[in-house]
Amino acid sequence: MSDDLLLERLLQVIDEGRRTATYKLALLSALIDAAALAPGRSDIPTRAIAASVLHTYLRQVPSYVSNDGSVHALRQITNKRSAVIRAVEQLHDAAEAAGLRTLADIQVQLKDDYAAAVAKVEDTFVRYPIPLLQVIGSEPVPFLYEPDWPEGTSASSLRRDGRDVLRLLPGVADRLIVLGPLLRPLIEVHWAADVAKWSGISLEDERLHGHLFGAERAAFPAPLRKGLVELQEGRCFYCGSPLRRSVQVDHFLAWSRWPNDAIENLVAADRCNTMKSSHLAATSHLDQWRTRFDRSGTDLVAVAAGAGWVSDPARSLALVRSTYGHVVAGTPLWVEDRVFEAADGPVAV
Ligand SMILES: [Zn+2]
Repeated sequence: MSDDLLLERLLQVIDEGRRTATYKLALLSALIDAAALAPGRSDIPTRAIAASVLHTYLRQVPSYVSNDGSVHALRQITNKRSAVIRAVEQLHDAAEAAGLRTLADIQVQLKDDYAAAVAKVEDTFVRYPIPLLQVIGSEPVPFLYEPDWPEGTSASSLRRDGRDVLRLLPGVADRLIVLGPLLRPLIEVHWAADVAKWSGISLEDERLHGHLFGAERAAFPAPLRKGLVELQEGRCFYCGSPLRRSVQVDHFLAWSRWPNDAIENLVAADRCNTMKSSHLAATSHLDQWRTRFDRSGTDLVAVAAGAGWVSDPARSLALVRSTYGHVVAGTPLWVEDRVFEAADGPVAV
């Protein structure tokens, strides 16, 4: 399939007018994430898709307080009942009762509840959104993955036959990695609009977007900032100048490309943060990032733990690797100030 046709089909799914649930948007997001997190792999277990969908909805189930102070239970579906959302809510309530804040804690301390919720999401997604995402009219027209089963198939029957895997079509994983930074904001806009409409919230309430998908941080806790500065011996990550009072925390891989707040993706910088903006950093900065990742990984984990912050080395490395691995020749990479170098092509990390 041509790149243009693939994009056309993706936009059709995202822009579908008569959506009755956000499931297809969640599925598309999960596919983009899966492609970026395991570059080169074209078989994605349906369970991994379900886990990704669950993590997104888990962040979205808490009630939303709009600007006028009214409290809203957010709706992801026009029907009254959704087995998926009910399962996510149950897990969320169990986590609240146990005082668990992070996904990692939930996965360990509520192992059985977590597995049950993933299984419930998987069963629904295998039955409907996965086979239905690629249907045009009444026929499946595959453009992302080979559909191996008809609507209504259960996850357990697939697993019994060892078919509980989505097989991405040739080239699709690479295209999703390249298009991800363009598609994700578009998916989020439509997703937020659907939820607002079904929940009776004015879309002018921009905070809803942050509530659903997280927002780029302007402020970071002091211990995190201090720990990063110490690891960099008091110098800007990019230019090496001594850091003075106005230390900024920069997302090495820009938030607008792949939102990742894990400490491995954070560096302390001076005005270089503003100059770099959302560009990719030059290969010399990339080498330095990789060196810090290898040599100071345990220090980063310790700083994160002390600051109550997230650490996720595997995800951080995978996102940097897949992004730089798909850089096109000529892409401007930021060196310093207003200086850029043109990429030769994909960069191995
Ligand atoms: Zn600097």
